[in-house]
Amino acid sequence: MKAFDNYHLPTSVNEALTLLAQYDGRARVIAGGTDLLVDAQAEYYEGQRSHFDALVDVTFLADANEIRAQDGFIVIGCGVTHTQIVASKRIQQTATALAEASAVVGGPQVRNVATLCGNVAHALPAADGTVALMALDAFAQVSSLQSHVISNQWKPLATLFKGPAKSAVDSTREIITALRFRPLGEHEGSAFARVMRPQGVALPILGMAVKVEIREQRLAQVAISAGPVAPIPFRAKQTEEFLRGKILDDELLRQAAQILTNEAQPRTSAHRATKEYRHELLPVLLKRTLTQALERAR
Ligand SMILES: Cc1cc2nc3c(=O)[nH]c(=O)nc-3n(C[C@H](O)[C@H](O)[C@H](O)COP(=O)(O)OP(=O)(O)OC[C@H]3O[C@@H](n4cnc5c(N)ncnc54)[C@H](O)[C@@H]3O)c2cc1C
Repeated sequence: MKAFDNYHLPTSVNEALTLLAQYDGRARVIAGGTDLLVDAQAEYYEGQRSHFDALVDVTFLADANEIRAQDGFIVIGCGVTHTQIVASKRIQQTATALAEASAVVGGPQVRNVATLCGNVAHALPAADGTVALMALDAFAQVSSLQSHVISNQWKPLATLFKGPAKSAVDSTREIITALRFRPLGEHEGSAFARVMRPQGVALPILGMAVKVEIREQRLAQVAISAGPVAPIPFRAKQTEEFLRGKILDDELLRQAAQILTNEAQPRTSAHRATKEYRHELLPVLLKRTLTQALERAR
């Protein structure tokens, strides 16, 4: 199997984008390779063309491996792995849902090389890191060359997805150079949970992330994301709207779960679960994540 002819290790965004431009669509961004190379191998065995002229590795770009605070946001570079996310005190304390999500991605070998930006760029609705970032109202910095000049645009994460494994980011010409979100403060909390096949190390049956802010015991703000329950990463807007301003108790939780099961549209997947089973799990994960996030906010 030959997935590529050349492998480049640029150290600046300009160099990386220039390389991509030179290959004119025949080179692709690579980070950890845990999705890209697995897909390339599968395509090869299915008899499809899985050949790139080049892969452009973005994990050696300046600042790519940093998790830093900047302009009131936590900024995560495109070389940051799930292992780094899990180990980061800053993320554990101010974006707990993300630390919890990265902690369950694959096994240690995968987490040591797989990046959070790669998780987003692959655009799967069940991707654990992406589900957590959706609840955190994250943004992605998309860098591209416009008339030989670098353009860096912060875009809401939700605008990056066109369908299952179909990203609005063209990884043959554009790079997600960083992700950012606001760190949670006082009266705020977040949580992530997922249900997985016992023998599984890949994608979950269902994952969910919640972020809350409480004021005088009321849910002042609520964000709920789940996957896979739609072709793209999903925010439960109707359930969020219903819960906002209310005090959580068993009856409210029951009603919220009803709204969530109506607005989420999971599908049956051959290797993981039926849509009926996923529907059954929605209230279970809602209770788990919402109560956990509330405890943390208190
Ligand atoms: C055994 C195994 C278990 C796994 N388990 C899980 C799991 O439990 N949960 C889960 O969510 N995922 C899982 N995955 C999938 C994968 O590990 C993650 O999605 C990972 O975060 C992908 O990151 P990467 O750096 O390896 O991406 P890569 O494979 O390098 O790239 C993935 C895609 O994104 C593009 N890309 C990568 N980085 C960028 C960038 N900065 N800008 C633009 N495009 C980019 C590439 O061109 C490619 O199309 C698993 C994979 C394996 C092999």
